[in-house]
Amino acid sequence: MIYFDSAATTSPSDIAKNAFIEASEFYANPSSTHSAGIKANDYIRISREYIAKTLGAKPDEIYFMPSGTFANNTAIIGAAKAKMRKGKHIIISDSEHPSVYNTANELKKLGYEISLLSTKNGEINIDELKSLIRQDTVLISVMLANNETGALYDIKALSDTAKRINKDVLIHCDAVQGYLKTKFTVNSLGVDLLSVSSHKVHAFKGSGALYIRNGVKVEPIVFGGGQEKGICSGTEAVQSIYAFASSAKNIYEKLDKNIEYVNSLYSYASKEFSSIGCKVNTPVNSTGYVLSISLPKVKSEVMLNYLSGKGIYISAGSACSSHAKSNRVLEAFGLSKADADCTVRISFSEYNTAEEIDILCDTIKSGIDSLAKIK
Ligand code: PLP
Repeated sequence: MIYFDSAATTSPSDIAKNAFIEASEFYANPSSTHSAGIKANDYIRISREYIAKTLGAKPDEIYFMPSGTFANNTAIIGAAKAKMRKGKHIIISDSEHPSVYNTANELKKLGYEISLLSTKNGEINIDELKSLIRQDTVLISVMLANNETGALYDIKALSDTAKRINKDVLIHCDAVQGYLKTKFTVNSLGVDLLSVSSHKVHAFKGSGALYIRNGVKVEPIVFGGGQEKGICSGTEAVQSIYAFASSAKNIYEKLDKNIEYVNSLYSYASKEFSSIGCKVNTPVNSTGYVLSISLPKVKSEVMLNYLSGKGIYISAGSACSSHAKSNRVLEAFGLSKADADCTVRISFSEYNTAEEIDILCDTIKSGIDSLAKIK
């Protein structure tokens, strides 16, 4: 199989698999006060230290969650609830992942007002941001890297601008697609809250983390035994968390090399696809891990099936929104509906090779030649 769908999920690394097996030996409940429970809890403590290091945060600012979606929901609903008396206005970008976009929309039912910040051509419009911020704006949530186009948004400029106008506004960043694909710390971005997910960094599904800056108040959205200082009740998935942290630590330690390698694959692929008549959508300022291209006259779903039949896996837009009827994110980016319908996402990891890109490109070319004739 040739896998170019790492933005949907990544293959677990050997480091993640070994960490999972190692932590499985210590299966006691990490909340139990006997020594087996304390040992299991040690794995969570170590994991918190690892994840904190990769984000330039303090360990007590890291809260483990069951997924990136859960982290985003907790950040948005939890911060909104904590700031209810201050105001009910929230700003998000128009190209957020459904776990932010739909969560913000859900808050509308509770009387919140949601403003959409445009991200045309993969850029935050700072002038528009200035005009949207009010004294009752309690939260701004904008992603670091877009899951469909790979565009990198300037979160530092957003945070500086927003806090100049309203010093109390909280900044949340969904960094699920930027984490360990571009270099940043929570301070270099100027964020109060930040979400990451395990299965996007060569670990397993079932965990994620929310960074909450010390002093920032977030209300829980689930209630129970009070794990994660009451922010995420429920017995922690020790093995998945330890595999997540071990994999993240490993990638973090070789980040420069990884980025350089994957970006070289990206540049090569983008040249190859342009040369066979595909339009490259991904803007210059991108992670270099996601390449969005529009195919000449072939619908993305048709191409996907064609490639899938040959054991090659890419995606049409994002896997999470594959059931949506229109492509909100690509249209917000500025693509026409016709181009969006013919757009595919090729996403890379450190395990891909230039030879695989050659096979993908040749197969897409033969697909275009044969499928474009089919009306
Ligand atoms: N945010 C972004 C930008 C994503 O791409 C995804 C998953 O694709 C998520 C959030 C959700 O993460 P999870 O799959 O861990 O719930």
